[in-house]
Amino acid sequence: MSDTASAQLDCDVLIIGAGPTGLALACELLRHGLSCRILDAVENPTTFSKAQILHTRTLEVLEQMGLVEDFLKKGRALHLLSMYTPDLRRIFHFTVGEFDSAYPYMLSLPQHDTEQILIDHLAKHGVIVERPFHVERLQQEDGSVLVFGTRGPQQTPAQVRAAWAVGCDGANSVVRHELNIPWQGSTYRQRVLQADVKLEWPLYHAEDEVFGFVSEHGSLGVFPLPAEGRYRLVALDAGLSPTPENFQYLLNTRGPKEARITDAAWLHEYTIHCRLATAFRQGRVFLAGDAAHTLSPSTAQGMNLGIQDAFNLAWKLALVHKHIGRDILLDSYEAERSPVAAELMKTSDLATRGLNDLFTLHGSLAQSMRNSLLQLVSEFGLVRRSISRNLSMLDLGYPNSPIVDQHHASRLTRARGASAEALSAGPKGTGANIGLRQWLDFGHGPSPGQRAFDGRALDVTSNQKRSLYSLLHSGQHLLLLFAGTVETEDGYRRLVAIGKHLRERHPSAISVYLVEATLHSETPADPSWDGPTLLDEDGWLHQTYGARAECLYLIRPDGHVAFRSQPADPIKLDEFLARVFI
Ligand SMILES: Cc1cc2nc3c(=O)[nH]c(=O)nc-3n(C[C@H](O)[C@H](O)[C@H](O)COP(=O)(O)OP(=O)(O)OC[C@H]3O[C@@H](n4cnc5c(N)ncnc54)[C@H](O)[C@@H]3O)c2cc1C
Repeated sequence: MSDTASAQLDCDVLIIGAGPTGLALACELLRHGLSCRILDAVENPTTFSKAQILHTRTLEVLEQMGLVEDFLKKGRALHLLSMYTPDLRRIFHFTVGEFDSAYPYMLSLPQHDTEQILIDHLAKHGVIVERPFHVERLQQEDGSVLVFGTRGPQQTPAQVRAAWAVGCDGANSVVRHELNIPWQGSTYRQRVLQADVKLEWPLYHAEDEVFGFVSEHGSLGVFPLPAEGRYRLVALDAGLSPTPENFQYLLNTRGPKEARITDAAWLHEYTIHCRLATAFRQGRVFLAGDAAHTLSPSTAQGMNLGIQDAFNLAWKLALVHKHIGRDILLDSYEAERSPVAAELMKTSDLATRGLNDLFTLHGSLAQSMRNSLLQLVSEFGLVRRSISRNLSMLDLGYPNSPIVDQHHASRLTRARGASAEALSAGPKGTGANIGLRQWLDFGHGPSPGQRAFDGRALDVTSNQKRSLYSLLHSGQHLLLLFAGTVETEDGYRRLVAIGKHLRERHPSAISVYLVEATLHSETPADPSWDGPTLLDEDGWLHQTYGARAECLYLIRPDGHVAFRSQPADPIKLDEFLARVFI
């Protein structure tokens, strides 16, 4: 910690704001071995339900954080999306669920429960949110960040010094203002009316169904909450104030007859913003969550995006702070997360404007055409799949990131195997004569920056089946050395040499696994490989990773592909690692 040693630090990372983003970041930093403090201006955590939906990718992230079981216990899985007319005619219906994930659904859980799970987890690890602590100003100096504010009900002046600071302080971020980072975008003219209510009504619906109503008066969204009989009602541009009577009026005019609100909590009206900070980093200070981007809630992805920001940033901060990783890792945070936020903003914007236009049609002919169109669209598998895929957030990746890459020997050089340097450095004779089919297969494996596929294999040492994602729980990078289904002895030896070299060179940052296909388990094991081996008994991993021929994949701690190479090329791998690791 040479550059920060001159000033006395109160912690490694100071987090400003204890919403879902700040809390998730604190949990992740602790998992990666950094100390942190977390401040919030408000005396108590939110009691509002706010963000209610956790999408598939966020559930995978929570699994990596070791918390998903707590979320699944409290939340309600939602699989169905439907749209009805007030006379209960179903005009739109489909099932969400992506089966390349262990969580093929959306999880309904009020934001205060999400925050409470994270707060409880932090408390178990000795971190308590410091509140009320209102941050007012910050300055960067001498390899550290000094944050000034007021603490407690008496608003006593206070300051905290940390090596790094992250502004997770929401859309009106003081940190963003302090950094003078422009906040670009717009505010919608529509207003959203929202309430959490208990309902008695005539509609029989599945426990796991999200639904909406469209009528000549407009639309009404209905989202089941985990508690029995409770729902969130959402109406766009209703022109009403948020009172129980007005929500009852909305149900009477837009929903089924005889629906009755028996209890209403958190009645709320708000304006939607769609804005993006022009930078996510300035020196030792970062922005994450709503402080960096706010989206329309139409796709219910805002909080998910914030939690995923935290997941992206924490491991990078940890590696750089421990002087294992280079600064390029920190620059990659904005390079990766800003395009993702911009892409989601586009879809949520489209959804907001499109749904508004669709649901405010006047005239019975226009409405009847709209209803027929919705019915038709929901019957197209392609449309259903595209909506479900986008909602899941599974395809969000970082193909243009400065810290992802690949070496895929060109079609011309493939027959010669690894690079010339590798040949001279590695064991003699690669034998990696890659056929066209093997070469093409590799192209279909997860590409650099993409989310790595999960799958199960037998851990030979423990004789237990394990998922690939469980191997990431350690917080390290994961190097998978695929022997290939057309394994050659020379290729196998080269993998062993790479594995041994990596284990010696990066013992605390990378865990190395040799992955063998069942078919070739009789291949004589190199007696010098004493590292862990996965037996891919059903060949699933080899198939999904396009590993018909010997190759390697380096997976980052956040489950995205950092680097891959076919054939497994030690020189190219070393070159890549030198860009990222010290
Ligand atoms: C009505 C509503 C419904 C929504 N529905 C969904 C949904 O279904 N799905 C979804 O994904 N998203 C939804 N969102 C968006 C979601 O709530 C936000 O994206 C999410 O809360 C962002 O989390 P965050 O931690 O980044 O910021 P916030 O939750 O805004 O937290 C910021 C924290 O920083 C603190 N803070 C602010 N200034 C300071 C300061 N100067 N000093 C110290 N602390 C400070 C605040 O007190 C607050 O606790 C909804 C939002 C609203 C308002």
